[in-house]
Parts: sequence; C-alpha cells; structure tokens
Amino acid sequence: MKLARKEWKGNPVSRGIAIAKVFLYEPLSFRVEKTSIPGEFVSEELDRFYGALSKAGEQLQKLYDDLCTEHPQQAKIFAAHQEILEDEELLEEVETAINQECMGAESAVEQVFDQFAQILAQVEEPLIAGRSADIIDVKKRILCILMGKKEKRLDQFEEDVIIVAHDLLPSDTATLDRNHVKGIITEVGGTNSHCAILARSFSIPAILGVDGITGELQDGWNAILDAMEGRVLCGYEEDEARVYEERRIQFDKRWQEEQAYLCKPGMTKDGVKVDIGMNIGSDHFQSEDDAYEYIGLFRSEFLYMEGEHLPTEDEQFTVYKNVLEKAQGKTVTLRTLDIGGDKTLPYMELPREDNPFLGMRALRLCFLHPDIFKTQLRAALRASVYGKLQIMFPMVGSMEDIYLAKAMVREVKAELEQEGYAYDEEIKLGIMIEIPSIALISDLAAKEVDFASIGSNDLTQYLCAADRMNAQTEGYYQSYSPAMLRILRFVFHSFASQKKTVSVCGEMAGNPKSAAILVGLGARKLSMNYASIPAVKAELAKMTIDEMEDMANHCMVLTTEEEIKRYVDM
Ligand code: PEP
Ligand code: MG
Repeated sequence: MKLARKEWKGNPVSRGIAIAKVFLYEPLSFRVEKTSIPGEFVSEELDRFYGALSKAGEQLQKLYDDLCTEHPQQAKIFAAHQEILEDEELLEEVETAINQECMGAESAVEQVFDQFAQILAQVEEPLIAGRSADIIDVKKRILCILMGKKEKRLDQFEEDVIIVAHDLLPSDTATLDRNHVKGIITEVGGTNSHCAILARSFSIPAILGVDGITGELQDGWNAILDAMEGRVLCGYEEDEARVYEERRIQFDKRWQEEQAYLCKPGMTKDGVKVDIGMNIGSDHFQSEDDAYEYIGLFRSEFLYMEGEHLPTEDEQFTVYKNVLEKAQGKTVTLRTLDIGGDKTLPYMELPREDNPFLGMRALRLCFLHPDIFKTQLRAALRASVYGKLQIMFPMVGSMEDIYLAKAMVREVKAELEQEGYAYDEEIKLGIMIEIPSIALISDLAAKEVDFASIGSNDLTQYLCAADRMNAQTEGYYQSYSPAMLRILRFVFHSFASQKKTVSVCGEMAGNPKSAAILVGLGARKLSMNYASIPAVKAELAKMTIDEMEDMANHCMVLTTEEEIKRYVDM
C-alpha cells in the first residue's frame, strides 16, 4: 500500500539534501533496578565500578585518538568525557552510595549521574546546560560495561540511511558511519547543539527540532530530507523525488567544486587578494593548514566558560602559548574576555540587570574587575613571545574605552618588566567594532588603535535594536539593511585612510553572498569558521573587484533589506 504524502518542518542546521531510507534510532535503554548489596560485597562492588571506569576510559581514549587528527574539535567531546570520568565530586558520590548506602554499582551510577545531569540542565547558560547530555552519555557508557550490554552503534551501515532520533548523544554523532549516513533528523536540539556542530563539520545535512517525528514514521520508509528549506517528506510521488534528486546532485556538485578552493588563496576573479582568517574557541583547531592565513578571532571566553573556576594566569598562558605555537607564525587575534549578555560563568555572580546585552558586558565587566582583566593581559603578554599575537577588546563603545584599555595594557607591561618577564613590545592592540557609537567615530578610533575587527553579529543587534537571541525580533535583526551597509562602508574607509587593517569576524564574513558585498564595500580581510572557508573562497573567485563594487554600490541605493537580499539573490 502506498503511503499518503506527509511533510514535517524543522530547523535546518547543516545544509544539503538527502534521499534515503529512514533508520529510526532508539538508543539502548535499560531499566536499572534499584538494588542493594550485602555489606560484605561493598569492596567487590567498588572494584566493579572502578573496573568499568577504566574500561570506559580506554574506549574514550580510542575514540579520541581516532578523531583527533582529522576532527580535533570533535575529539574534544571525548576528552571532555574523560574529564567526567575523573570528576572527583561525582566519583566520591558514587563511592558513598555504594559504601554507605550499600547500593549496587549500576544503581549508584544511575542515581548520582542523573542528579548531576539534572543540576547542570537547569543552568541557563546553554553551553553548561549542554554538558548534562555529556554526563548522560558517559553514564550510559559505564552502565553498558557494568551490565555487559553491547552498544547500539551508528558506525556501520550496509546501505544509505537518514537517521531519525529523538536526540543524538555526542558520541553517537561523532562515530557516525559517514559513508552511509546521508542525513540526520532529530526532535530536539538547536543550531549550536553538539549534534548540529558535528553534522556541519562532517557536512551531513541535518534538520533538528522536528517535534514528534519519531512517533510518526517507521524504519525503512523512504524519505527526503531538504536541509535547505527545513523539510522532511515521506509518501512523495516519483516526480517529486526526481526534482529533489536533481537538486541533491546540484548541491553535491557545488560542494565538491567548493572544496577545491579550501587551500587556495582568497582572491577575486581578477586577482585582488582577500585574506581569509579562521575563528577559533580553544587551542584545538586545524593547524598546519593553508586554508586560512590568520586567526581573526580567538573567543577566549570559552576558556572561562568550560572550567569550574576562573582560569589562572598560568592556565591561560599555557593555552595561549599552545595556540601561538600551533598557528606557526600566523597572526592570532586574541579577543579578551567577552562575558555577560547571553554568556555567563557558573562560578561567578554577575550583576543582575534588566537588559544584560546593554549592561556590564565584556570590556565593561573587565573594567569592573581589573584583577580578572589584568590576569588575562599578563597571560597574553607573557605568551606573546611564542608567536604573532595581537590583542583585541570587545564591546568598545567610545574613545574613553580605548584609552582605558590601553592604559591597563601599559600598566601590565610595566609590572611584567619589573618582574623580569619577556613580552612582545610591539604587540598590536585593536578593537571589535560592534557598537554603533564606535563605528560612527571609526575615523577617530582608527588613529588610536592598530587594527579593528567588525563583529557584525552584535553590530546588527545594536544598530537595529533587535535582540540577536530573540526569534520574535528576527525580522528586525537586519544584517543587510541599508543602515548596516552604510556603517560598514564608513568603517572600511576610515581604517583604510589610516592605513590600518580591518577584518570582519561576525557571521556575515562566512556567508558567501555577504562576503562578496563586504569586499565590494572595501573589506580585504574576512575571518570565519573553518567549514565556511571553501564556499566563501569559491564565491569570491567568481567575480571581479569591479563587479563586487558595482554590486555593493547598487545595494547602497536600495531602500530595504528585502530589496538588497533579492538583488544579491540571498
Ligand atoms: C560578533 O558580535 O559579530 C562577534 C564576532 O562576536 P560574538 O558573536 O562572539 O559576540
Ligand atoms: Mg560580539
């Protein structure tokens, strides 16, 4: 019997099209009965628990080793899982449950890991809350070992599949059979969830947030996943399948062609050079790579958000030194702590504010806590002798901000000198341009700083007065509004006339169409996530500089974002 046509909508987080059979994934579920053990077996039970921990450690090490060369960012998930296995508080709680409450190892693990996961899930900060999934993932691994169950795996398929699941754990996604998994659909998960990040880095089309889909389709059904439009189809006609197959072939062909650009220099069709940079969030990144020429944004706040306390000067120094050594002489732009707004620290109480994005965020918070700021500056300056470091301040709104930040760098330099530490005396200091009040005086700012980078994500939110996190204001958040293009052009020209460099490191730089507009407006440096590099280089190579300038000039005379987007075919 033929299925009736059915369509679902979701959030496309990794672009592409897939046509394949559904593989409905229900991860291994086990009922862990609450068991108690006679007192004399406690030490045996503890041995079982620690035996399982060490086996889990071995499995995780293997997963890490298999991924670390090609996919260092993904390998990090398993390094984080290993840290969970070493979490003293967690282990002590399990031990106490076995020792004092005479619980069986399985029930102790189930109870304690669930408690920890629940506490984390309640934290508002998405990155911390996301760790709750890691704890559950590690719990399942330990329970599998204790109960002698074989993991249900997604790493080997005989035919092409689209995986449909309620959610995928980080380890499910990282070990996917990349030859046969053609698409991913889940009921939960946002654009920046582990699953979305992994799907993008493996270039597997994915749609997340398709509510209730696991209950509505069955294993083996034929499905179309359109992760351009965010659609899933079953029970479709042959004609429709042919249209999608054609689109899939076109998409894959373009993707293949773009990959050929990965290691070519960024350049317009007529040879005008555009430096392509990479954005990073830690010292795990693709090094020894011709794909990028500089690190345009090192979001140092991740270092602060991942730990359980403020990173010490030495801890920071080690990470910054690692980054510089791995960058092998390429310029590294370290952005100082950008916390506040949507980013919080679990161990540090920030002032309660009605409008945190307009409050004590980033540099303002650093001025409020000079000890934290100076610790970071000390670590950065000490590391600066190991490569080519430049320091960039976020959320700069005025010349006063620049004067004060520079004065604090001078203070720290003097302290280091007195203490006999070496640092790069010529280190460049720059600013993020992400508040209109500094963008509009960038002619003045350009005289005072060595370089700048445009944070188009925040610049859009502050220019348009539209919260970048609020789905309801999405229509007001217009990165391609005529106002935005005018302000961008002014910033490029201001810095060019002072012969100072200006880069763009917000999402606009990584979108091929807007990259071409930015170059037409005057940009010659664009920094983006690694995965965006091929498509941007391919797009730039299609047009001459005159064509890009004409396109930008035409955009400047259009009156709405909608017209601009239509004109550039976005
Ligand atoms: C930006 O605002 O564009 C930017 C690059 O910084 P973040 O997204 O980290 O705020
Ligand atoms: Mg920003």
